[in-house]
Amino acid sequence: MKHLTTAQVAELTRALESDLSKLERSMRVTDEAMRPVELDQSAVGRLSRIDSLQNQGLTRNLQEREQAKLGLIVAALRRIESSSYGLCTECGAPVPFERLLVFPEAPTCAGCAP
Ligand SMILES: [Zn+2]
Repeated sequence: MKHLTTAQVAELTRALESDLSKLERSMRVTDEAMRPVELDQSAVGRLSRIDSLQNQGLTRNLQEREQAKLGLIVAALRRIESSSYGLCTECGAPVPFERLLVFPEAPTCAGCAP
């Protein structure tokens, strides 16, 4: 990460750590929402049960997105520790600081992003 200054890396590390704690908080809320429908005493009757199941479907999508983002953040923090952070994991090119500022967890340069 020669193209990044120590101060820039420190700033991105702080951003990643704050994203990580925000994500952990929101994942706890999502976990609550994923509790089995059967235990939900307010879900009486067939229709509200269907509603609950549909909500859980949406929650499951959210949970998958949160888990994917968590994986990216943790991987980025590992790359900071191993000093490979800021280099595209696909082509090895330096990822510009401006891009990392917007997506500190981005593993690739804009050209290699899916
Ligand atoms: Zn690349």
